[in-house]
Amino acid sequence: MAVKIFLDPGHGGSDPGAVNGNYQEKDFTLDIGLECRRVLLEEYEGVEVKMSRTKDTTVSLSARTHEANRWGADYYLSIHINAGGGRGFESYIYNGGVSNFTKVAQDRIHSVIAAGDGWPDRGQKRANFHVLRETRMPALLTENGFIDSSDLNQLKDPDFRKNWAASMRKASPRLLVSGRNLNLRRNPSRRAARGSSK
Ligand SMILES: [Zn+2]
Repeated sequence: MAVKIFLDPGHGGSDPGAVNGNYQEKDFTLDIGLECRRVLLEEYEGVEVKMSRTKDTTVSLSARTHEANRWGADYYLSIHINAGGGRGFESYIYNGGVSNFTKVAQDRIHSVIAAGDGWPDRGQKRANFHVLRETRMPALLTENGFIDSSDLNQLKDPDFRKNWAASMRKASPRLLVSGRNLNLRRNPSRRAARGSSK
């Protein structure tokens, strides 16, 4: 049975999220989300990925969580960029009752991303966010740097955003083998095919 990962690039369409000049949170989150999907589908078999949006479209919070619930996602990962002064990376799980796996997954994904981004680690946190509260599966919301600080220098760099997604390559197998699905493997045939095309 496939592992279903729901990727949620924050904001979109008429909601830009945090803004700094011409830079908008919604564009960064979409780029990271699409790259993350590419990495997961390319590197692993037995994974299905659905996204709350794949373009610059307006999607309400309830539409996002409804879709993830309807699809029966195994894991919900929301991607955001912070604002308001500060630097670094932080992640959130729901501040109400959560499964132990929700905590384990936060710990693992947070550690891998924090190790890869080179930013200050603002910590693993809990909050009453809609997408964390209304999802029926383990859910994590990430705040990846501040659009209004020097973090923007990295966020502007496509390679940095690719690296973020590459962190998920490391995090996801560890995440998924901790859950109820144990059948995730690297996909040797696709890796071989990619290697031979170089
Ligand atoms: Zn946001």
